[in-house]
Amino acid sequence: MMDFVFTANPARVIFRPGAVQALAEEADNLGCRRLLLLSTAGRADDARAAAHSLGNRMAAVFTGARMHTPIDVTLEAIEIAKTAQVDGIVSYGGGSTIGLGKAIAFRTDLPQIVLPTTYAGSEMTPILGETEHGVKTTKASPKILPEVVIYDVDLTMSLPAATSGTSGINAIAHAVEALYSRQRNPIVSGWALEGIAALHQALPKIVNDQMNREARSQALFGAWLCGLCLGHVGMSLHHKLCHTLGGSFNLPHAETHTVILPHALAYNAPAIPEVIAQLQAVMSDDPVTALRDLAQTVGAPSSLKALGMSQDQIDDAVRLAVSNPYWNPRPIEASPLRKLLENAWHGVRPVLGEY
Ligand code: NAD
Repeated sequence: MMDFVFTANPARVIFRPGAVQALAEEADNLGCRRLLLLSTAGRADDARAAAHSLGNRMAAVFTGARMHTPIDVTLEAIEIAKTAQVDGIVSYGGGSTIGLGKAIAFRTDLPQIVLPTTYAGSEMTPILGETEHGVKTTKASPKILPEVVIYDVDLTMSLPAATSGTSGINAIAHAVEALYSRQRNPIVSGWALEGIAALHQALPKIVNDQMNREARSQALFGAWLCGLCLGHVGMSLHHKLCHTLGGSFNLPHAETHTVILPHALAYNAPAIPEVIAQLQAVMSDDPVTALRDLAQTVGAPSSLKALGMSQDQIDDAVRLAVSNPYWNPRPIEASPLRKLLENAWHGVRPVLGEY
């Protein structure tokens, strides 16, 4: 019998090619007259061009967003926001820029309009991961959830194939873990399977032809659904491992998700046969193999070694992952977990039944 609790996160989503044109109107709807535009340094010109329609509503620009949301960067941006007396935030970028907007909103309660330019899905969650003195902590609050998200496929056309692939697989990871979450429910599982199918179909097409707008639109749709999953139910072993590896050893976020996901799924597989069957139906292959093949197709690094982790950090990673674990469908035991991390470090292809 079905037995679940579902609480929806409020968010307004505009999804269409050219949707960036709606930015000024959306700012007006929120009552914002003085906005702070955020981006990474490399995307500053594109951010200004995308937000052009704001005219003199653009009161300040900060282009110092960085991966893992360092708190010193957030405090610098808040000073700029205060000086310019802004009443809203426009985040133009991927999870790094969106993370900065969330970190500012968490401390100021300013409303956020997000223009996503990758497929990581952060814009749909009330979750913020930020770092201080090399330690990454996670917060959840309604203040963190962006008020308006404008999905415009044209803002993603310039995303390199490799980043498209890894950010899309990062989104798939949210949906895979949603399927076996302790809070799983039929609504979120529906989003998860639809989102995984969309990204699984679209990412190889993008790698094959970076200018394939239809495939990018499908990937963006998948990213939205997978982001919704992360925003609505709790995550398990895979996210715990990636959080540990990213936060403690400074490994790149999306690439780490891409390496770990098939291993984490292989670990959990004995406890979730019905989820393996659901995934097999949307990926037309056993999902551990399908996810590893997808990573290879998008040209992602295949090992933690290639991401810069040293072999002697495996011991620390096992200790950190076993201590204070997230809820997981299969108990987390040090011995198979060590094997998982050793295989992921060496880049061994995981198979179902391995751990
Ligand atoms: P990112 O935002 O770090 O972007 C990667 C690089 O691609 C950056 O240099 C960026 O400037 C560039 N870029 C972005 N869009 C581009 C485009 N359209 N064309 C060309 N270059 C572009 O990457 P990401 O994977 O989206 O985000 C990773 C971060 O997001 C991590 O810090 C992670 O913790 C966070 N994240 C958070 C959540 C959440 O819910 N809290 C979810 C997913 C990811």
